[in-house]
Amino acid sequence: MVATEEFLPFALPDIGDEEIAAVVASMRSGWLTTGPSAAGFERDFAEFLGGDVEAVCVNSATAGLHLALEALGIGPGDEVIVPTWTFTATAEVVRYLGAHPVIVDVDEFTFNIDLDAAKRAVTERTRAIMPVHFAGLAVDPHALRLFAAEHDLLVVEDAAHALPSVGGGTMVGSGNSDAVVFSFYATKTITTGEGGMVVTRNRDVAERVRTMRLHGINRNVFDRYRSTKPSWHYEVVAPGFKYNLTDPAAAMGRVQLRRARDMRDKRAAIAARYDWAMRGLPLLLPAHAAETDVHAWHLYVVQLDEDAPIGRDRAVERLADLGVGTSVHFIPLHQHPYWRESYDLRDLDFPVATRNFARSLSLPVFSSMKDSQVDRVIDAVRRVFS
Ligand SMILES: *Cc1c(COP(=O)(O)O)cnc(C)c1O
Repeated sequence: MVATEEFLPFALPDIGDEEIAAVVASMRSGWLTTGPSAAGFERDFAEFLGGDVEAVCVNSATAGLHLALEALGIGPGDEVIVPTWTFTATAEVVRYLGAHPVIVDVDEFTFNIDLDAAKRAVTERTRAIMPVHFAGLAVDPHALRLFAAEHDLLVVEDAAHALPSVGGGTMVGSGNSDAVVFSFYATKTITTGEGGMVVTRNRDVAERVRTMRLHGINRNVFDRYRSTKPSWHYEVVAPGFKYNLTDPAAAMGRVQLRRARDMRDKRAAIAARYDWAMRGLPLLLPAHAAETDVHAWHLYVVQLDEDAPIGRDRAVERLADLGVGTSVHFIPLHQHPYWRESYDLRDLDFPVATRNFARSLSLPVFSSMKDSQVDRVIDAVRRVFS
C-alpha cells in the first residue's frame, strides 16, 4: 500500500557512524576552524584524483568557482561562456568579478554544453569557458581542450556533480583544465554539509586561491600556529574573502571521500535498475558514459516523450501523491528573470534547453536508498506513465 508508506524524499545524504565519529573527534581536538583535518582532506583529495594536482578546500563550490576565476585574472568586461543548463552559481560568480557570462545552449541528450553554440558565442572579449559535467556525465575532455586552445580560452570546470567521473579516459579533476571545482553541498555525491574543493595543476593558481580564501592573508592560520616564526605575524596581500572550510566539515569529507567509489557504485546500480525497469515507457532515459568511462550518477534525469500520457508538471504531482519525491534540474538560466532580463535572453535562442526543460524530471538516486525504495519509485513511475 503506497499511501501508507512514508514519503521518499528526492535526495538524502548518506552519513554513517564513521562520519559522526570523525566529526566528534574533530570537535574534541579543539581545532574547529581550518586546520589539520582540512589539510588532510586536501591531501586525500589530490591523491584520490591521482594526478599531480593541488587541492584547496573551501566552504562551497560557489566560493571555489569565484576564487578560481579570480586567481585566473577574470575581471570587469571579460566574457565567460557558461551553459544555460546549470545552477545559477556557475554564472553568478562571473558577475562577482564584474565579468559577463555568455550563456549558451546544451546537447539534447547529455545536457552538457554544446561546443558549436559556444563557438558562435566567442568574441574578442571571451576569456574562459565553464563546462558543467551535468549529472556526473563528463564533458569530452579532448573536444574541450581543442576548443579552448583554438580560441585561447581558460577552462574552469564546474564539477559539482562529477565525483567520481571519468570522461575520455581522464578522471574529472586530473586533466589539464586551469581549475576544476567540486561541491560538497548536502545533496551532492559526497558531502560536508556545505563545502567545496578547487583543484588545479597550476601552483600559482593554487597559491592565489589559498590566499584569497582567507582574507588575502599569505599564510593560513594553521601555519601561523605551527610555524616557528612569531605566531602573531601575518601579512595581508589582497582584499580577500572568508571562504575557508571548517575542520569538522573536512573530517566528515575525509570519510565521505573514502566511501565515494562505493557510494557511486550504489547509485550506478540504482540507475541500472531504473534503465531496465523503465524500458518501454514513454520516457527518454539518461545518456550513459562510454564503456571505459565512469558516470557519477549524481542525477537520473528522464525526458517525457511527446506521446507521454501526461505532462511533466502533472507527473511531478502524481509521483508526489504516490509518495515519491522528484525534482527538476535545472530551470535553465535563460528562464530566470535576472539572467533573462540582464542579457535579453529568449527561449528561441536556446531551443534544446527550452524543449528539454519542459519535459525533464529527476528521479531519486542516492546511495542510502533501499531496494524497496527503488522498487517504489519504479512502481510509481510505471503507474504514472503507463
Ligand atoms: C550545487 C551546484 C553548485 C554550487 O555548489 P555549492 O557547493 O552549493 O556552492 C554549482 N554548480 C552546480 C552545477 C551545482 O549543481
